[in-house]
Amino acid sequence: MIETGEFDFENRIVAPQVIKEDDQDLDYSLRPKTLAEYIGQDKVKENMSIYIEAAKRRGEALDHVLLYGPPGLGKTTLSNIIAHELGVNIRVTSGPAIEKTGDLAALLTSLQAGDVLFIDEIHRLSHAIEEVLYPALEDFAIDFMVGNGPAARSIRIDLPRFTLIGATTRSGQLSAPLRDRFGIIQRLELYSPQDLAEIIKRSAVILGVAIDNEAAEEMATRSRGTPRIANRFLKRVRDYADVMGNGRITKDIAKIALDRMEVDNLGLDSLDKRMLTMIIKGYNGGPVGLETLASAIGEESVTLEDVCEPYLMQLGFLARTPRGRCATELAYKHLGIIKPDNGGQTTLF
Ligand code: ADP
Repeated sequence: MIETGEFDFENRIVAPQVIKEDDQDLDYSLRPKTLAEYIGQDKVKENMSIYIEAAKRRGEALDHVLLYGPPGLGKTTLSNIIAHELGVNIRVTSGPAIEKTGDLAALLTSLQAGDVLFIDEIHRLSHAIEEVLYPALEDFAIDFMVGNGPAARSIRIDLPRFTLIGATTRSGQLSAPLRDRFGIIQRLELYSPQDLAEIIKRSAVILGVAIDNEAAEEMATRSRGTPRIANRFLKRVRDYADVMGNGRITKDIAKIALDRMEVDNLGLDSLDKRMLTMIIKGYNGGPVGLETLASAIGEESVTLEDVCEPYLMQLGFLARTPRGRCATELAYKHLGIIKPDNGGQTTLF
């Protein structure tokens, strides 16, 4: 029997999104404030530092920037850093928060020359809002309709030159006209365990916790390439170190704590395992369509796509083919399931 349904997402310890137990003030204190402090993503950092420097030298607003990649990789953090490095103010909002065209107009007219407007989840802007945004991005002006019926007329308001930074986990869902208006498009990648170990050590210094290198490495390999998860682990493991030891995070304590959180040695939790097991046992290793898979395990397909797949693909456990998802040999091995030669029954070791 493969277990299905009712997964407690709001408390999933390896969720890359913000969850209930995350302490927002603490998260803020762990955020790097400059490009130099921002660990990893070397290509993006290199590119952005050149664009920022060039904009500063010319005394112009930076081109509009689109940052995309899975949740928890540092898109919000990087946007704040860009504004900081440019020496300008940042206004922060999100696609779903802008409900009316008036909301967007109020935001845009409050900007000063060179300022950054950050819109998280920009793929969730409504079509009507996008229509207002286009002239704002291109001509630095917005058109207002005043009055109704035959008396209605349009008034144009000029805006200062500003920089829009849009962040999205799903660049494919962005409309083509909106996407085309970004001069700079950068993709954030999942972090290497080495980078994550650096992030954990940096955060430990800020939290005033002593941590062994080996412990940081152990936690890094289980953090699914995601700094938000790495920082969450650090906060949890610190509690174990305080209660079980003398406050220092050692490899043993990190292991015990993470095992108790039911995160395996590669960072997989029960949801990842259910997904892989369903492909293997329910569909002979695949291919199986995402929607079919999602309903078979009783989860939303977007959750599987945004949350499980990027990491399972990075590990080489999952392959996406035109006909659906397939579990790879590595996935069979990790789960301890023998792969049958000719698609017959699978057996446990
Ligand atoms: P996103 O907007 O992509 O969901 P955030 O910018 O909110 O991600 O980042 C999540 C957390 O991870 C932040 O609180 C920050 O402390 C940490 N973080 C992200 N990227 C880095 C990095 N490159 N170096 C250090 N910490 C990082």
